[in-house]
Amino acid sequence: TIPVITIDGPSASGKGTVAQIVARRLAYHYLDSGALYRLVALVAIRSNTDCANESAITNLALHLDVNFDGSSVRLNGEDVSDALRSEQCSKLASIIAGQSAVRAALLQRQRAFRQSPGLVTDGRDMGSAVFPDASLKIFLTASAEERARRRYKQLIEKGINANMQSILQDIYERDTRDSNRDISPLRQEVDAKLLDTTFLSIEDAVNEVLRLHNA
Ligand code: C5P
Repeated sequence: TIPVITIDGPSASGKGTVAQIVARRLAYHYLDSGALYRLVALVAIRSNTDCANESAITNLALHLDVNFDGSSVRLNGEDVSDALRSEQCSKLASIIAGQSAVRAALLQRQRAFRQSPGLVTDGRDMGSAVFPDASLKIFLTASAEERARRRYKQLIEKGINANMQSILQDIYERDTRDSNRDISPLRQEVDAKLLDTTFLSIEDAVNEVLRLHNA
């Protein structure tokens, strides 16, 4: 079977950055599963689809025309990498992610990324629902305050105005929604290794994942 390393964890934990670097080091494929939920949210916003209309949202999820090339995401050919990161998109993604039909609609699409020589993927339920037979499962986290600090720094570096208090508030809200939903709630699987990066650099976190992979 083709190896899969799953890296699940809360928002802004750095799991995406770590997963991408690990994938590059191993020359594995990479899947940012959160981008799929964000894409559905973006299409819903653009088409004025009511996010409470589960069957309409599911239909959007089934018909996404998406292409991942390198670190950019294309929707019908358009580079939407930046649009996916907006606060509006983040919030809506987390809301529609609570709909079971939407999750089911994205399942096969995610599994199709499992290709030779291997896959590194990050999200909330990669180790629990999408790739329960993964070769290595990581639960990557950091304190809410540290995650807010990282997000703040990222925004400031991009020249975007940011408010620490509202970022922290947003992180708490998203954590609560992601952890308390009925379907695939965010939590550490029993067979996942906990990696707390509150006091770790990205490089240290990457090396720890590679060490566990090689162990
Ligand atoms: O990881 P990211 O913040 O990009 O994900 C956006 C939202 O998509 C999350 O808040 C979460 O609700 C949802 N998501 C999910 N399952 C995944 C990945 C993301 O429910 N595997």
